[in-house]
Amino acid sequence: MKLVSRAQWGARAYRKPNGATPYSRPRRGVKLHYLGTAYTDRPHEQCAAYVRQIQAQHMDSNGWSDVGYSFLVCTHGYVHEGRGLKRRNSANGNTTLNDQDYAVCLLVGSTGVTKPTDAQLGGARDAIDYCREEGPAGTWLGGHRDGYSTSCPGDPIYAWVKAGAPRPASHQEDAVTEEQMDRIADKVVERLLSKDAFDAPADASDYSDDPKSPHHYWSGRTLFRDLVTKVRRIDKTLTELNAKESRP
Ligand SMILES: [Zn+2]
Ligand SMILES: [Zn+2]
Repeated sequence: MKLVSRAQWGARAYRKPNGATPYSRPRRGVKLHYLGTAYTDRPHEQCAAYVRQIQAQHMDSNGWSDVGYSFLVCTHGYVHEGRGLKRRNSANGNTTLNDQDYAVCLLVGSTGVTKPTDAQLGGARDAIDYCREEGPAGTWLGGHRDGYSTSCPGDPIYAWVKAGAPRPASHQEDAVTEEQMDRIADKVVERLLSKDAFDAPADASDYSDDPKSPHHYWSGRTLFRDLVTKVRRIDKTLTELNAKESRP
């Protein structure tokens, strides 16, 4: 998860005591929100400033103790920490609803950018998983409109969350597992280090651009072979040097 801490987005200190109010019990789940205003997309460098602006609105116009949401997810998939995991949010409509579920806001509007990006859905999925694992929160998922009269979080996000908030195909985490990567790496090294497997030259001085030339051999594979050849030569030299030094 690409978490942006409060310090990283330059949050103002929250007001006490209300901003420090903890949840009274584990959360049932996560409610999603959108901005409900016009929103235009922007480069990620400007997202922190935008989150600061939302916090200012909530604190100065709404009179809240902090930004209302638990987390805010920008169109680039970064998860900005709002009230976080332990402090009760103020975005779900009333104290009972705020205490019941986390509030995760996706930065999309009711006009302008109204559909979340795949990166953003991936980030929202990260935030949901984070709330469940670290909150703790149960598996319930929904929107601000559940149990409260509002159109938030807009139809596209509401449909997505009610479908179980699936991670978009283009943002599959762990498409190749760590374990599989380790096995592949072992296989590669095994092949590269197997005896007499190297016929690549030691340097690229006779490389030819012409595919018909016998010296057109610099593929990723031959480069890797060459690298290993050089590393082995260094290793051999070091071993020889060490042997010399340890001689009485
Ligand atoms: Zn909302
Ligand atoms: Zn961003």
